[in-house]
Amino acid sequence: MTIDQFDFNGKKAIVRVDFNVPLDENGNITDDTRIRGALPTLRKILDNGGALIIMSHMGKPKGKVNPKFSLGQIKDAVSKALGVPVEFAPDCAKAAEMAEALKPGQVLLLENLRFYPEEEGKPVGIDKEDPAYDAAKKEMKERQKEFAKTLAGYADVYVNDAFGTAHRRHASTAVIADYFDADHKMLGYLMEKEVKAVDNILSDIKRPFTAIMGGSKVSTKIGIIENLMDKVDNLILCGGMTYTFAKAQGGKVGDSLCENDKLQLALDIMAKAKEKGVNLVLGVDCVAGDAFNNDCNTQICSVMDIPEGWEGMDAGPETRKIFADTIRGSKTILWNGPAGVFEFDNFTAGSRAIADAIVEATKNGAFSLVGGGDSVACINKFGLADEVSYVSTGGGALLEAIEGKVLPGIAAIKG
Ligand code: AMP
Repeated sequence: MTIDQFDFNGKKAIVRVDFNVPLDENGNITDDTRIRGALPTLRKILDNGGALIIMSHMGKPKGKVNPKFSLGQIKDAVSKALGVPVEFAPDCAKAAEMAEALKPGQVLLLENLRFYPEEEGKPVGIDKEDPAYDAAKKEMKERQKEFAKTLAGYADVYVNDAFGTAHRRHASTAVIADYFDADHKMLGYLMEKEVKAVDNILSDIKRPFTAIMGGSKVSTKIGIIENLMDKVDNLILCGGMTYTFAKAQGGKVGDSLCENDKLQLALDIMAKAKEKGVNLVLGVDCVAGDAFNNDCNTQICSVMDIPEGWEGMDAGPETRKIFADTIRGSKTILWNGPAGVFEFDNFTAGSRAIADAIVEATKNGAFSLVGGGDSVACINKFGLADEVSYVSTGGGALLEAIEGKVLPGIAAIKG
């Protein structure tokens, strides 16, 4: 079933969206991309005569109520974006009455799903090593099913439009689908678009295929780095990871971010790239700072020779040139993670060089996909989002999809 085939007239639709928007300290939304991303699906259902029950997570409240992460804070913004009033259910496990009373054209926003440990289905307050953990996990999985069933009971039809969480088997992203017939569950427009973008890359890879992986740590990206080596021709590793690789090769990295327990892993990655014929591209120089702030003193150093008291915070000029040349010669490009501490204006040059080269390659016919919160923030900061082929709302989900993994949120609907 697709969202265009279904007749929502007189029906209540429960829609999982990703309204995990960044808020400032006063609870104001600093980037509403995710709300705007869900609008086509939400509008379609309303315009078609349906009623909406919107559910999402926000932040990581870890199964506990925490006002800092309340979706009540964004109710007015959602209402403004949709152009209709929005009711808010402060307790999503007890929203039955409000859902029952919904009339066509009306909208109900549920509280943050992750205030309930059942959403993620992981036992809380018990260590994995604890002998009672398995039993607690089993019990929580049962509670997760009950929670999903309760949510499902509010509506006639389920729509999943939250690509960012599609790689998780949570109550609202996957388990809930078990309580709807095949013709009463479907992907939203955003999801369909994301799936198509990934298909576009995987079904017909135009070579050379270059992946640029940045960000802070090797440890969180190792899975995808290893998997990408079977697919790409060039693999650019940048950002904070640079210094773990430099140290592993005998470099002095000063106070740079460095995972000392991952030095062997870095060498293994280098060996594996060689074995597979992948051109692994690492930074050679960096912009080092003498403090972790925008206004610190800076100097350009070799990544192999950073003085004590200094830390590598961005790619240096020689590195930028190497990265840009590699990217410009590519026909398929995937970018995840910045090349430096791009949040500080004085350390954006590395990420900017990558973004500019991607834009140029795209103009010359390459397919470019940018994904993951920080790279998206980066491309938005540069005002270049419209000049790449596709900007994904998914980080982890996008990478798992590119790895060829089946995403539980999609499998729950498509089988
Ligand atoms: P991740 O969440 O792993 O994708 O990392 C994103 C973060 O990595 C951003 O907040 C960047 O500021 C940070 N980052 C990138 N390069 C560096 C670096 N050289 N040192 C410290 N942090 C970095």
